[in-house]
Amino acid sequence: MMENDTIVAIATANGIGSIAIIRLSGDDALLIAKKLSKKENFKNRYAILTNIYDSGGTLIDESIVIYFQGPHSFTAEDVVEIQCHGGYIVAQSVLKACLEAGARLANAGEFSKRAFFNGRIDLSEAEAIAQLIEAKSEDAAKILASQMKGSLKEFIEEVRDEIIHILAYSEVTIDYAEEDLPEDLVEQIRAKLDGLYKLLKKTLIASESRAGLMQGFRVAIVGKPNVGKSSLLNALLNYNRAIVSDIAGTTRDTIEEQVKIGTHLIRIVDTAGIREAEDAIEKIGIERSLEAIKQSDIVIALFDGSREADEEDREILALLKAHAEDKAKIIIKNKVDLPQKFTMEGLPFDMELNSKEDVSGLITALQEIMDANNLSDEIMLISERQITAVKETMQNIEESYEPLEMQELEIFSFHLNEAVKAMASITRPFENDEMLDKMFGSFCLGK
Ligand code: GDP
Repeated sequence: MMENDTIVAIATANGIGSIAIIRLSGDDALLIAKKLSKKENFKNRYAILTNIYDSGGTLIDESIVIYFQGPHSFTAEDVVEIQCHGGYIVAQSVLKACLEAGARLANAGEFSKRAFFNGRIDLSEAEAIAQLIEAKSEDAAKILASQMKGSLKEFIEEVRDEIIHILAYSEVTIDYAEEDLPEDLVEQIRAKLDGLYKLLKKTLIASESRAGLMQGFRVAIVGKPNVGKSSLLNALLNYNRAIVSDIAGTTRDTIEEQVKIGTHLIRIVDTAGIREAEDAIEKIGIERSLEAIKQSDIVIALFDGSREADEEDREILALLKAHAEDKAKIIIKNKVDLPQKFTMEGLPFDMELNSKEDVSGLITALQEIMDANNLSDEIMLISERQITAVKETMQNIEESYEPLEMQELEIFSFHLNEAVKAMASITRPFENDEMLDKMFGSFCLGK
């Protein structure tokens, strides 16, 4: 074990709740629990109801204390969890008492970092834990929960083992005279590498296309002024506005609204732009629509059925053709309750709507698009770090092809060794303190 001074943090969210949990980890965890409770007997993994006192002996609270004897704990060290009454004051007082009894305040992610260094979890599992806490949809939570239990790790290990196998196969042949080599050796190795390359590429693409599943699907509502964008936004918000809590440390430069549809979360981008248009002070310009389209996973385009098509409508259509070709789109003829005048060549509508009355058709269409993205049994890369590592692996596989052709087996093995290293870095990197500090530093306190 690397560090075993005793760390402490409040593990529950800051705010009013019925209970709060203070977590201790390290050699003195049990000793500190004894000091705070004035009790001697703590049985491993038993919930004990006890008084908690501050360093002056004054009663702070009555709490449940659970002792997890190392190595069978989250960090593999001795861990104590104190479940005290919720609210700011009690939890802070218990925290303070722990500090006075000899613990030190944990850094962000330090519990997970210790779990990692003590071999309880690998990095892919640690990242899944960190993201699970912030999961934006039920589907994302499911994927993360399975990765927390090691599904990504298994995938990584299979790929790594396969490369090592190929490497071993090629290295054995270095010792052979050329004429003794099996004739189709190069083809065999190449076919195996191609298979691996395709698998990694598929995983990469699936991960990128499912970013919406993890972060919430970003939806742009575009159209010229007065087509009904803000009416539609309001209808969606009335349907099921998601409550968004402020996460400490995140700043948003754009205003965004979130709506829950089925198990998914949609995030409507540039709502400020949509609302400004309502006041007709600043019309939503083409520039702004373009920006919204670029940022989005799904585009909703509105046209006003009650008016004749004009130049602005044509510009919106051109924008869709130029910038939303590969995106999921829903093109809507709105205000169908009024007498209809709109016609435009080359504009196939997906649906007709009265955005002030009933948007259920749109909800269904959105749900279908988002469900189509949900292949939750697939492996998914969930951080830039993981994506970079897979890209690096793929690049090294690519770079091994030529030396393989040329029978330069030392160079070939060099690239495959690099590929193994890159792949392994997803779960257990060859120690790189800076990277680890950065990664764990982004975790919540108390994790
Ligand atoms: P925006 O400028 O695109 O955000 O458009 P608004 O949502 O502000 O709508 C412009 C006007 O059209 C408002 O007076 C709305 O009440 C009206 N409107 C919006 N949708 C419909 C609709 O489906 N039917 C009818 N009759 N009026 C609508």
